[in-house]
Amino acid sequence: MEPLLTAHRVLDTKRTNSGGLESTVDFWANLLLLLGIIASFFIVLVGMFAGARPFWFVLFLATCVLLASAVVWVVLRSLAEIIRLLKKISGLKYSGEISGAESSHQFYACSNCGHMLHSETTCDTCGAKIVPEGQELESFGIGSLRTDMFNVQSALVQPSF
Ligand SMILES: [Zn+2]
Repeated sequence: MEPLLTAHRVLDTKRTNSGGLESTVDFWANLLLLLGIIASFFIVLVGMFAGARPFWFVLFLATCVLLASAVVWVVLRSLAEIIRLLKKISGLKYSGEISGAESSHQFYACSNCGHMLHSETTCDTCGAKIVPEGQELESFGIGSLRTDMFNVQSALVQPSF
């Protein structure tokens, strides 16, 4: 009889934080961009209905408003980013995310296949029975499932808590 496939649930982290000045700056950046887009449409509409001449000047004005709000958005977003980076360097928590950086979050994963666990008893992906930490695994699933490097490594790693 083939040994029963078993795995441990391993803890991973997801940390979120909100309410910092950096998120207020982000809010204003988005609000001003939105207002700039609305204002530029409004300028074009008013120019059309009022019959403003020359009309290229109306389009020029609308484009200027749009570009100005876009520049304000970039400047404010950069400011928020600088606050986040300073907080990160200081070891403080910051809200939002640093652009281009990956966020991390904690979750229980199957030690056999590495997928997120939705149940405390079995893995939905590979079907392994989840056994309590400290209990010996009956099978690592090598050969019966994915045998790539990640699978082999995650199956051999024992939880440290
Ligand atoms: Zn699994």
